[in-house]
Amino acid sequence: MSYRAYDNDSLGFTTRQLHAGYNPADHYRSKAVPIYQTAAFELGDFDRCTRLFEYSEEGHSYVRFSNPTNTVLEKRIASLEGGTSALALASGMAAISNTILNLANAGDEIVAVHTLYGGSTALLAKTLPDYGIHTRFVEDENDIESYRKEINGRTRAIYIESLGNPGITILDIEKIASLAHEHNIPLVIDNTFATPYLFQAFEYGVDIICYSATKYLAGHGTIIAGLVVESGKFNWLNGKFPQFEKFYDEFKNNIEPETLKREMFTKRLRIRFLTDLGSHVSPQTVFYLLQGMETLSLRMERHTKNAQAVAEFLEEHPQVKSVAYPGLKSSPYNSLAQKYFSKGPGAIMSIRLKGGLEAAKTVLENVQVFDYMVNVGDAKSLIVHSATSTHFGLNKEECAKAGVYDDTLRLSVGIEDTEDLINDLSQALGAIK
Ligand SMILES: *Cc1c(COP(=O)(O)O)cnc(C)c1O
Repeated sequence: MSYRAYDNDSLGFTTRQLHAGYNPADHYRSKAVPIYQTAAFELGDFDRCTRLFEYSEEGHSYVRFSNPTNTVLEKRIASLEGGTSALALASGMAAISNTILNLANAGDEIVAVHTLYGGSTALLAKTLPDYGIHTRFVEDENDIESYRKEINGRTRAIYIESLGNPGITILDIEKIASLAHEHNIPLVIDNTFATPYLFQAFEYGVDIICYSATKYLAGHGTIIAGLVVESGKFNWLNGKFPQFEKFYDEFKNNIEPETLKREMFTKRLRIRFLTDLGSHVSPQTVFYLLQGMETLSLRMERHTKNAQAVAEFLEEHPQVKSVAYPGLKSSPYNSLAQKYFSKGPGAIMSIRLKGGLEAAKTVLENVQVFDYMVNVGDAKSLIVHSATSTHFGLNKEECAKAGVYDDTLRLSVGIEDTEDLINDLSQALGAIK
């Protein structure tokens, strides 16, 4: 009997999270995806070596460029997103930084929002300007005109998150995609908090998706990894991206031109940046990530169910000033949540406490089921004080723009029994004097 689930994109999401991109017949029929623990591959004959290095034949030579374990992951995430191709990298920040470098040369600009992961804000606002890549941050991320104002002839992309950090903002993504395309630039989204199960970004016009796979995709807090996925719909030869035109001319005789066009972002990311900057993720790590992804949809269902219950509990609590979770009717993002997140707007929320910094400390020091950690997207519930951790180093004004105050706690709701989570928060809030 032949095994055909590995390349059938009409199968459901949960079936594909288990099977897509892996054909056991190519791997001694091993049912689990093997870890190819080697630094390099035998090249075979002389002509094959040439074909591998000019990219006219797919295959593996040196593990920093590619290896069969990582290829399964790349095909699997591309299938789950409905994209043409993907690249695995060493971390979420490697995925994001390499993506920006693939898009922008010195003198080019990015338009981004303030409500980003702290590391992404630091990359765009502090690190990349030293290399000539500048970011204009929009004044009001909820107003499309604010984005339009920041776009000029040097802009090479708009960069946003599907669920903003840590205020869990939801932007009108379709409108932002249209604006980007009006200017012949791509929309790049960090979909870490949502995952492909909760949000199918390409359906709304997004061109490039970045992930910290460290979070929900892996799901168990055991590894660090990143992913970049490409829709295949953006025309990189539209005149705005000389680096892609050069790349196309270099490879059009070796790679079938239509394939090259559809997978151009990923191919250039691999051939230029993975190869030259070396943010390789080891196949051992990818194995854990693939294990985690096998249960992604099941975990996300439980995460969102718990998050909704926790948010509703916290909203009613007398020590809580406000809860930022788009699943709440009171959230200004509730209608956008219904439009974009029919399965629930993730499981991360932030709350503000009436008792200020002291109350925040008390909660952190009294939780017993929630763990005091900077991570998110673990199967276990986590809680953190953003201003002194994830957003450390940003000034008060930058923090306020991101929705981070002294009295703000961010919660990443896990998959434990709902009542244990509510009881834990109840006793920790009860300890506030
Ligand atoms: C964690 C995170 C990142 C960075 O990912 P690493 O894997 O830690 O490098 C980027 N974006 C978001 C939204 C994150 O939560």
